[in-house]
Amino acid sequence: VDLPIHDAVLGRAAAFGNTPALVDGTDGTTLTYEQVDRFHRRVAAALAEAGVGKGDVLALHSPNTVAFPLAFYAATRAGASVTTVHPLATAEEFAGQLRDSRTRWIVTVSPLLDTARRAAELAGGVQEIFVCDSAPGHRSLADMLASTAPEPSVTIDPAQDVAALPYSSGTTGTPKGVMLTHRQIATNLAQLEPVVPAAPGERILAVLPFFHIYGLTALMNAPLRLGATVVVLPRFDLEQFLAAIQNHRITGLYVAPPIVLALAKHPLVADYDLSSLKYVLSAAAPLDAKLAAACSQRLGLPPVGQAYGMTELSPGTHVVPLDAMSDAPPGTVGRLIPGTEMRIVSLDDPGKDLGTGASGEILIRGPQVMKGYLGRPDATAALIDASGWLHTGDVGHVDADGWLFVVDRVKELIKYKGFQVAPAELEALLLTHPGVADAAVVGAHDDDGNEIPHAHVVRRPTAPALTEGEIMTYVAERVAPYKRVRRVTFVAGVPRSASGKILRRELRGDR
Ligand code: ATP
Ligand code: MG
Repeated sequence: VDLPIHDAVLGRAAAFGNTPALVDGTDGTTLTYEQVDRFHRRVAAALAEAGVGKGDVLALHSPNTVAFPLAFYAATRAGASVTTVHPLATAEEFAGQLRDSRTRWIVTVSPLLDTARRAAELAGGVQEIFVCDSAPGHRSLADMLASTAPEPSVTIDPAQDVAALPYSSGTTGTPKGVMLTHRQIATNLAQLEPVVPAAPGERILAVLPFFHIYGLTALMNAPLRLGATVVVLPRFDLEQFLAAIQNHRITGLYVAPPIVLALAKHPLVADYDLSSLKYVLSAAAPLDAKLAAACSQRLGLPPVGQAYGMTELSPGTHVVPLDAMSDAPPGTVGRLIPGTEMRIVSLDDPGKDLGTGASGEILIRGPQVMKGYLGRPDATAALIDASGWLHTGDVGHVDADGWLFVVDRVKELIKYKGFQVAPAELEALLLTHPGVADAAVVGAHDDDGNEIPHAHVVRRPTAPALTEGEIMTYVAERVAPYKRVRRVTFVAGVPRSASGKILRRELRGDR
């Protein structure tokens, strides 16, 4: 683990030789391991020749493509830290990230070039914009592959140097730049390897974005480190996704709950041969046990497993091991991975550790805890205490066998007359109603100023006449009285982030 991330991931690439490493799921373009190894070294040399060096920040602004990993590892090999950017970010949002991270270099793709240019103008300080494909006036990856410059000779300190600077999803506030060192990322890969071992012959579908830490780890670093084949899709489109599973004989799916929902409920799924799949793993947001079961039953697979983590944890701490998917209790996000410590502490009395079965805040300590938030020492100190415990802001409990269950975020809990109601639990229940296509619950206030659960519901096309009253009754018949939904609004869709999280603040109107 004490290697720079490009060496930790690609150290065995030469040995995997002609095994396909990356396949474009839309046009079939394939890069073998030998090519990924050779090409990223050439690009690193060209970047270094262009002036990219140690301590620089390079923004990688691209949907998932086969070139994305090349650009990423080339940049780190040249000594830069890579800040990954949402491909749908506006120029203003992108400029904010460029300014915050003091980015000097951008790698983008031609369809996003205008946004990148405007962002660079707004932010200032950007020296050059490279493109992965091609655009007049910009150096392209093809130009860089032709470079004869020597490989960069920077010395990287894996324990101190920042390899990746992803931004947190911004679910609860403004996204924060998360400094992850080479060692933190590589350590987390090593910790996850025994429990989710991808291997040569496995074909992983990269539909979640590489720019988010979950995609970066589960869909890029981990499978490439182990010799699997990564089939890349630029965005989630259900038909394209199902066709890719069928045509590329995908063996493993790492997804977020909205995709599990589609797999469990969408009629299109029946039209495809998905028999190559061996497992489905979901992370990044709460997944209901019943929904998970409906998905695995429909696909004829072992129960959908889960993993848990956050950007600040490089990102993983818990996962249902692949070989335990059938035995794990429904709804668990997994067991603690090796080399990591966890505590569950009381929400009312934060110093107090809770025992088996009791819900409290999840605290984590381990080598994968981030170096800090970029430029926000106060926010860092508020998250990680003096003893090194990271306060996740998530509520959970463990059972006697060490399986963790995540209830919801502390901040999202709705306090109804002193009782705590978890929106995730009500959302899961609403999804079991045959007329409900999607649902999100947030806290609202009634006329007396009490906080109450307010459901936003998307009706299925088959249930156009579903009423507020029917929804409230359905919930009231199934939960304790304090958990009842007390207001219902029908909406066309539920706003979600790229990693599949419900943007509850948008529903509350406090964006
Ligand atoms: P921000 O910190 O900017 O508000 P964010 O917390 O959504 O955004 P991420 O780092 O992408 O940013 O997400 C981490 C969070 O995702 C965790 O704190 C947790 O709330 C949630 N999460 C991750 N995995 C799971 C899971 N398996 N079940 C439930 N929640 C999960
Ligand atoms: Mg967070």
